[in-house]
Amino acid sequence: MSKRLSAALAHMQPAAIPAWRALQAALDHTIPACDGDNRYTSELRDLTIQDRAEMRQICGKCPVQAACVDYATADQPAAGWWPTTTRTENAA
Ligand code: SF4
Repeated sequence: MSKRLSAALAHMQPAAIPAWRALQAALDHTIPACDGDNRYTSELRDLTIQDRAEMRQICGKCPVQAACVDYATADQPAAGWWPTTTRTENAA
């Protein structure tokens, strides 16, 4: 297990680990639709309403969306944009 993988797993909800592994396996063979789009790792307060609308559309066309949704639902990551992100919908 790499140091990066160990670090990621250390902060994860234990129940989310299988979904995270499934997402990583999907990403081994597929480039996600958000690849290279820095908005997905931005502070959510910096995203405009238009950003959020565009990002929802991008996620909707992503080849790994199902695995990404499964992981985000299981772990509810506190940082970044995920297809399940709703916690700051009114903060833009
Ligand atoms: S579904 Fe996940 S991997 Fe795909 S574009 Fe959205 S955030 Fe990125």
